[in-house]
Amino acid sequence: MAETINKKASKKETWNLEAFFPTLEEWERKIDSTHLKAKSGWDQLQGYKGKIATGTPALLKELLQNYFASSRDIEKIYTYAHLKHDENITDDLFKSGFERSVALYQMFSSAASWIEPEILQIPTEKLEKLMKDPELSEYKFYLRCLIDQKEHVLDGDKEQILSLMSQTQRTPQVAFSALSNADLRFPKVKDSEGVEHELTHGTYSVLMKSYDRTLRENAFKGMHATFQNFENTLTALVAGQVQNHLFTMKVRGYSTCVEAALKRYQIPIEVYKNLIATTRKRIEALHRYVRLRKKVLGLDQIHFWDLSVPMVKDIDMKFSYENACDITINSVALLGKEYQEILRKGITEDRWVDVYESKGKRSGAYSSGCYDSMPYILLNYQGRLNDLMTLSHEAGHSMNTLLSNRKQAYHEASYPIFVAEVASTFHEQLTAEYLMDHAKTKQERIYLLNQEIDSIRGTFFRQTMFAEFELKIHEIVEQDQPLTKELLKKIYADLNRDYFGPDLVIDPELSVEFMRVPHFYYNFYVYQYATGIAAARALVEDVKTRGNKDYLNFLASGGSDYPIPTLKRAGVDMKSPVAIESLITHFEDLVKKLEKEIV
Ligand SMILES: [Zn+2]
Repeated sequence: MAETINKKASKKETWNLEAFFPTLEEWERKIDSTHLKAKSGWDQLQGYKGKIATGTPALLKELLQNYFASSRDIEKIYTYAHLKHDENITDDLFKSGFERSVALYQMFSSAASWIEPEILQIPTEKLEKLMKDPELSEYKFYLRCLIDQKEHVLDGDKEQILSLMSQTQRTPQVAFSALSNADLRFPKVKDSEGVEHELTHGTYSVLMKSYDRTLRENAFKGMHATFQNFENTLTALVAGQVQNHLFTMKVRGYSTCVEAALKRYQIPIEVYKNLIATTRKRIEALHRYVRLRKKVLGLDQIHFWDLSVPMVKDIDMKFSYENACDITINSVALLGKEYQEILRKGITEDRWVDVYESKGKRSGAYSSGCYDSMPYILLNYQGRLNDLMTLSHEAGHSMNTLLSNRKQAYHEASYPIFVAEVASTFHEQLTAEYLMDHAKTKQERIYLLNQEIDSIRGTFFRQTMFAEFELKIHEIVEQDQPLTKELLKKIYADLNRDYFGPDLVIDPELSVEFMRVPHFYYNFYVYQYATGIAAARALVEDVKTRGNKDYLNFLASGGSDYPIPTLKRAGVDMKSPVAIESLITHFEDLVKKLEKEIV
């Protein structure tokens, strides 16, 4: 095993939370005063209650200004507390600070929960007028969104019943999480020499990359047999969640569950269907990759547990953090000197990043921050290729947030999930290209190609297959058919067969894989990973030919318009197959390059 880079952080390699609040005491003073001020402020919010429908545009403006100002303040308090808490999740002081800020957030949300329903009770005609009133010009898009939702909002008392139900509707998700994360016990799994290995959600993906095939097979079977023991329960939970969506669809008057989920951001259903149809049309690209894998690994039969192991032995590509910063910055040269300079300063001087693992620190990685702070990035950097790609990915989010915060007012700064993964995967693709261009040996090129192909497989093909599964099981329930475990397993196995192609052996355990996927308790969420990376690919190519102006405007656009027109202005039409095709073509090119290098 190669040594990992995991050194103790100097101050330079920790995030600059002092720029946010100089001390924890200062933050405490702020939360105390906000608590008091907010109390009277919220009384002030209550003062508008019942007056909005008959009031003047100026009164509505005043209410919205008050509302967003408080929201902005609380976000600041909350963000600092969550970052501080993540530095050491075992520290009780930070933990209680975090809990206090969550409580404050909840108090505020519930005190303000009447605002949107009351605005929505205003007749559409009058709302349209308000929207065009110069007094309310800065809230034009906010009001537009409310008007667009209006036909699916019910009368006040019915809405109240729905909100009272929301807690019980979470039961399938809560029960799944309790089963999967707390109650399930996984067996120890043996490698080819009979040595036992711990199997958990965390070790599973590591074991699936092991060069020991017996260990991979045992990990796969051990994981899925454990879920299979609860297949009746898990089927009931998935079906229960679909019933929740069906209920919402019916009472709010949507024609399908997918429409109900996508309408909030006005994503047309054709975007969803286009993703699946275009992917299916070009699915041979993935079949080709499975074929190549089988050949390179020298297998008579390829199984699911052979899909993640690197195709060449670890070639020990290591990157110091300084080196990773240089690569990330250099790889986005396409976006211009100014962009690179903001990024350079942020990750190397201004201390956006908490770099290394430390005692009690939260695992994983993310980009966070709020309107009044710099972007913050949490890493657990160990110097592997994957860590470099994570830095590049999170830095993409951070630049998106920063540019959007600079350009937009607070209430239009945060961007919707549909576009959130565009900036991050845009960065990743440029960094992957840069590394490939600078690879020193054939082995390195193979390793990098392999990594990039697997990354696209996970972010694009797997999520599209999930999206198709999600759509299918909702359609079945919409047609009043029951979701039985046999039917769910058959649908899932068939999808795997279609996506991976004739070479992959569909083992019985594979048909229960869906039972361990938490995303099936969300609501038509995963397709956005696939559309996000496809949009990013199309935009990478677009920036290469047309320059970066439209893309930079896109990054700065935040939540000032719906995602589909925003992306269209940047140069990509998500209703057409073009973006999906450009990603699949790119994937196919990488597979062809790998074939050439390796065979
Ligand atoms: Zn991301």
